Amino acid sequence: MLLQKRKITVIPGDGIGPEVMAAALEVVAASGVSIEPEICEAGAKTFARGIESGVPSETVESIENTKVVLKGPLETPIGYGNKSANVTLRTLFETFANLRPVRELPGVHTPFTGRNLDIVIVRENVEDLYTGIEYMQTPGVAQALKIISRTGCEKIVELAFEFAVAAGRKSVHCATKANILKLTEGMLQHTFEEIAPSYPTIKARHILIDNCAHQLAMRPEQFDVIVTTNMNGDILSDLTSGLTGGLGFAPSANIGSDVAIFEAVHGSAPDIAGKNVANPTALILSAAMMLRHIGEGKAAGDIEQAVLVTLESGVRSGDMPGYAKPYKTTEFAAAVISNLGKLSGTKATRDFEAVKLPPRTTEVAAVDVATRKVTGVDVFIESTLQPQELGDELTAALDGTTFLLHAITNRGNTVYPVGERAVTLVDQYRCRFMAKDRGTDLGDPEILSLLTRIGESSRWMHVEKLQLFDGEDGFSRTAKS
Ligand code: NAP
Repeated sequence: MLLQKRKITVIPGDGIGPEVMAAALEVVAASGVSIEPEICEAGAKTFARGIESGVPSETVESIENTKVVLKGPLETPIGYGNKSANVTLRTLFETFANLRPVRELPGVHTPFTGRNLDIVIVRENVEDLYTGIEYMQTPGVAQALKIISRTGCEKIVELAFEFAVAAGRKSVHCATKANILKLTEGMLQHTFEEIAPSYPTIKARHILIDNCAHQLAMRPEQFDVIVTTNMNGDILSDLTSGLTGGLGFAPSANIGSDVAIFEAVHGSAPDIAGKNVANPTALILSAAMMLRHIGEGKAAGDIEQAVLVTLESGVRSGDMPGYAKPYKTTEFAAAVISNLGKLSGTKATRDFEAVKLPPRTTEVAAVDVATRKVTGVDVFIESTLQPQELGDELTAALDGTTFLLHAITNRGNTVYPVGERAVTLVDQYRCRFMAKDRGTDLGDPEILSLLTRIGESSRWMHVEKLQLFDGEDGFSRTAKS
């Protein structure tokens, strides 16, 4: 019987991409798995064709069909639209989790050599500040929205624990900035603490992200799996790559319910592109992660072992300092291929089956509450008045309404009614109006009439309802509230 080949979408990418991709594909082919690559385009060449997303429709069709992508790095050239082709791919196929494993590798000397580091960052991949929703509030004040959803937190936390169980890991840390961002980062912490008891074999601990960075520099061996929000994960995972030898050795997987995209953490490294000197290890290890994902665990393990054996044998890549004659990209790949089937003398492979995710649902995710109420409104106003002058003006505008001016803040500092200390003022004020009767549930007509009144004397640009859900504040407090 003729064996059906597993189709995968292959995007060689930009810069060093085609060189490291050729190396990775040769290694995969030599491992004996039966795959059929569909070579597709994305990135610089696509932007140059005037396609603003950086991903042509043929590539999208291929991914919809194959569901699995091995991808080289993609540049986002300045001057062509404003989207990153990587972000397009992650959001288009909702690869909501980014797994970035790093481990100590033989012969790759770092200040942490000997501590046997073996850490996986599980980074939320589609929410947070990376939704890219930004506004100029005034000509001199910019704002970005940090969007964190309950469903997004549940998905990433469950994946982190499921992965930990599947891969025989012992602990999961959840790293957040929940002490400052109580509603957004706090949502990940609370979700983590709710879900953790369902995984009694895994030690679960919350850690503040700044302390986590400190601990990673001081005592990284204490970490196993770290789950975190998008931006924190972006930064932490580059840090952990650095702990174990750098970008040339760091693989990653972008996992979604339907589609998974495997790629090196590094970019297109244009300074070394076309010279056959790039280290292909990161993409070779990403390809191994891909094989595990498609159920080819044996080949994945063989490739991981062959990389270890290659490094143990003294083969060195161009990004490892201090070697007079490092191996070229093609030579490195050939060495890995020649070591397929051999076992490392120092390190075992973690053999495990990829986590199966529930299918993507088209339902709109919502959290049910029994009661909800709008108790006030924050109006963001552009003004160069002093706080007292602005407060007086707004108070006058409130005459005869159901609102009172509760507080004015400037860059988070309360400046009205009592300015605590001298702060540098900018022309963006947040003015908090509360219903005079605390029990009132404010309706849109009252809020719209408030905005009309304010608009007669002030320039407002942004409004937020202050909502209570089941009696809990759905907003951060000002110093006076
Ligand atoms: P980079 O491409 O990762 O390169 C930074 C430096 O790291 C390189 O100059 C090179 O250092 C070294 N390096 C990276 N990968 C290497 C490898 N495999 N072998 C040997 N050395 C390697 O980061 P960047 O310069 O900031 O970004 C360049 C472009 O890549 C940008 O357009 C960026 O947007 C894009 N990018 C894409 C992705 C992605 O597609 N996922 C990720 C990151 C960046 P030396 O100078 O020491 O040779």
